[in-house]
Amino acid sequence: MNKTLIRGGDVVLDGDVLKQDILIQGEKIAAVGDLSGVQASKEYSAQGLLVLPGAVDTHVHFNDEFMDTKSVHDYETGTVAAAFGGVTTVVDFSNQIPEKPLIHTLEKKKKEAEGRAIVDWGVHPVITNAASEILKEIPLLVEKGAPTIKCYMVYREEGLMVKEHDLRRIMEQLKSAGGMLMVHAEDNDIIEKNSSSLIKQGLTEPIYHAKSRPPEAENKAIEKCIHLAEQTQARIFIVHLSTAKGVRLIGQARKKGINVYAETCIHYLYFTESQLKHRDGIKWICSPPLRSKSNQEKLWEGLRDKRISLVTTDDAAYSWAAKMMGAHRFDKCPNGIPGIEVRLSLLYSEGVQKGRISLNRMVELISTQPAEIFGMSPQKGSLSPGADADIVLFDPKKKWTMGRDSLHMAADWSAYEDIDITGKIEKVFSRGELIVDGERLLAQKGRGKYIKRKLKW
Ligand SMILES: [Zn+2]
Repeated sequence: MNKTLIRGGDVVLDGDVLKQDILIQGEKIAAVGDLSGVQASKEYSAQGLLVLPGAVDTHVHFNDEFMDTKSVHDYETGTVAAAFGGVTTVVDFSNQIPEKPLIHTLEKKKKEAEGRAIVDWGVHPVITNAASEILKEIPLLVEKGAPTIKCYMVYREEGLMVKEHDLRRIMEQLKSAGGMLMVHAEDNDIIEKNSSSLIKQGLTEPIYHAKSRPPEAENKAIEKCIHLAEQTQARIFIVHLSTAKGVRLIGQARKKGINVYAETCIHYLYFTESQLKHRDGIKWICSPPLRSKSNQEKLWEGLRDKRISLVTTDDAAYSWAAKMMGAHRFDKCPNGIPGIEVRLSLLYSEGVQKGRISLNRMVELISTQPAEIFGMSPQKGSLSPGADADIVLFDPKKKWTMGRDSLHMAADWSAYEDIDITGKIEKVFSRGELIVDGERLLAQKGRGKYIKRKLKW
């Protein structure tokens, strides 16, 4: 079997950062420690570099058809950008076509990924039709390795919304099948009412997108979900949490023993709603919207004290032409920001470098926790012997400027421009194979494998 050694890096493992060597055998990590007596056919020096587990992004939208457009990140372009961002596993959402069985969500993504994916991938089915015969399929999806199912409490007009009493039925099914419900928690009624009133008044600029979806709309929906989770005793996961009160609600619920987790996304940690007042404010239209500085500070606090369990990207890469549909009508702009590549570097630079979170916490937030909560550990998310050899070599001192020219995402625009970053990804290994070396992509298309996930209880 092929042996590779990564020598003398600062290895982040089990809450420690220690100067160690890592031995890779085939696709797995075989040993971590002082391996000076060991020989290997390939050796890399990681002197002065951090050695991190490959990042896991459990919130991406590839080939996503939404608001009259489609994401330009498919399984090739999306996973290439992922790889350059140190992401070695992605989990993608697959919206159910209402007339089709739920299992089709999985079959569809297998076709999309075949021959294209560069890194490993999994699927979260999205229920859009909660008919009884559909819910009967939930155990099958769990068995096929897709135990985390998402529902939207918004986007009624897009055909995505699931009603409250159906959420309860879905939670009950998932609980008995060993699954988890992910929820996009925003109150549809509040938002529809606000939107039509703002538009009637001619208030259609990007900032009014945020005004139409105030923190209260998100908080109200989160409260409903927590209540349902308490009653059904199901496990739920609030995606893209953006409000201070939301962080409090999650903290209180978890203290009471309710089985609820939450993530926030990298854009809520870096941008605030003032971006929407820029001339090109449509770049930052996403849902929930960007919030105020005071909300943002509470998100960082929630990351530190573990009320928030992970940071994802909610990568949704629509073309500039598509975003421009909303230039004069905020409600016509496809909601989403391409971000799959930026998370590790930005979280390191803004979080670890600036003293907001520790290096170990960063690794928990982007690797260990997503793998654990979404049923991929011990295979993913850690440098422990026996895990897949998904490894990032990271120079913690190198400075660079983040912008479209220095990134590899496929959209013809970027929300992340002229950002000074400290810390740069040097090499990325996926299952023992060097797939990114500086600016070079070494991976073959289609090498990424489907990850069959199973939640731990
Ligand atoms: Zn999303």
